[in-house]
Amino acid sequence: MALIVHKYGGTSMGSTERIANVARRVAKWARAGHQMVVVPSAMSGETNRLLALAKELAPAGVPDAAYLREQDALAATGEQASSALLAIALQAIGQPAVSYTGWQVAVHTDSAYTKARIESIDAERVRADLAAGRVVIVTGFQGIDELGNITTLGRGGSDTSAVAMAAALGADECLIYTDVDGVYTTDPRIVPEARRLRTISFEEMLELASLGSKVLQIRSVEFAGKYRVPVRVLSSFTPWDIDITEEARSGTLITFEEDEKMEKELISGITPSREEAKIAVIGVPDKPGTAAQILGAVAAAGIEVDVVIQNVAKDGRTDFSFTVARGECERAVELLRQQVVPALGGNVEVASDKHICKVSIVGIGMRSHVGVASTMFRTLSEEGINIQMISTSEIKISVVIDEKYTELAVRALHKAFGLEQAGSSKKLA
Ligand code: ADP
Ligand code: ASP
Ligand code: MG
Repeated sequence: MALIVHKYGGTSMGSTERIANVARRVAKWARAGHQMVVVPSAMSGETNRLLALAKELAPAGVPDAAYLREQDALAATGEQASSALLAIALQAIGQPAVSYTGWQVAVHTDSAYTKARIESIDAERVRADLAAGRVVIVTGFQGIDELGNITTLGRGGSDTSAVAMAAALGADECLIYTDVDGVYTTDPRIVPEARRLRTISFEEMLELASLGSKVLQIRSVEFAGKYRVPVRVLSSFTPWDIDITEEARSGTLITFEEDEKMEKELISGITPSREEAKIAVIGVPDKPGTAAQILGAVAAAGIEVDVVIQNVAKDGRTDFSFTVARGECERAVELLRQQVVPALGGNVEVASDKHICKVSIVGIGMRSHVGVASTMFRTLSEEGINIQMISTSEIKISVVIDEKYTELAVRALHKAFGLEQAGSSKKLA
């Protein structure tokens, strides 16, 4: 007997028929003798619907904490509904089940509405139900802060609820059921030849998630690493009565042994992200302290900066560019114009571009092989794609390009690194 956490995404919970199917699958696992905790997302489209309603009535201007508090209270209802529906569907097939909201468990978070972080989880109540033979459904995406306010964990946050729950319970495995049958070399909706990975190292998964692949929310991967939770991504669209041993081996497992993996692949995945915008501060003085002045002001406003580039100086002046989350672009530009340009002595222009895409390649094999960057740059140049910015780490290379070339770049790179065939990316070394 094992303690297993299942997480079902929005599409998997998308209708009462699908919820009934989830119930059959979960009951199958429970009847096989496992203690089951299930974390469902809201039914697909529901979170967007609720957020749009809030927006219709929202006060003008930048949202304040009072508004965000209510928005979280509203958004959290999506998961509450799907959790209760799943409990009902389980009871209907004779499987005792109980659902708990984030605050009933309780899942304690900080007070950062819309992006709260889980700080601790009280697992006693859940354990007591498990011991009594009930399937326990824990509402995803939500928690409660110190003052009793409802918080949400950021889009895609049910992944994090599930892995955190698995960590708190010391679960044997956390199975993330979704609408694809695992983690692929790139988004299979962009490249149909993309190949499912049987395993992916924790570090690679962390990079892919942080670079914008939405298959797992980054914080869920961080939890998995911190508490060594075995996490598997798999399909909820296989027949519910598929052999349980076969099901338990399907999908993609996140591994923590990197040596074994290093033998296999050079590049594991490619991820496009259209979530950033580029800001250029043009004609700044080329002297010590300029970068600190610009980025210091942006950081002080709580805006995170990603890729940074400074051009070669000419006549004592240079251009300084960086990317921020698209939603923060206007605020950052405004702030630079009002605070930083005057401080730099004027005569400086601030421009922004939201039509960019960051394309990243990730692989722990990069550590021990040279030539990956040159293959990437050559491939893009052969397609006539201009690279606007570059950033690298030990196991990833990201380039910023014009958004209109996103699909072309991803397909060309997927091919250039031979990702459609297992093990083939090795031969580039
Ligand atoms: P859920 O609602 O189950 O949480 P998400 O939509 O959040 O599902 O994540 C699954 C989606 O992630 C897939 O439908 C797929 O289009 C997308 N995706 C992006 N990159 C990848 C990748 N490398 N491998 C698999 N899926 C990916
Ligand atoms: N329902 C939330 C969202 O749409 C959380 C999740 O699905 O993981 O972002
Ligand atoms: Mg998701």
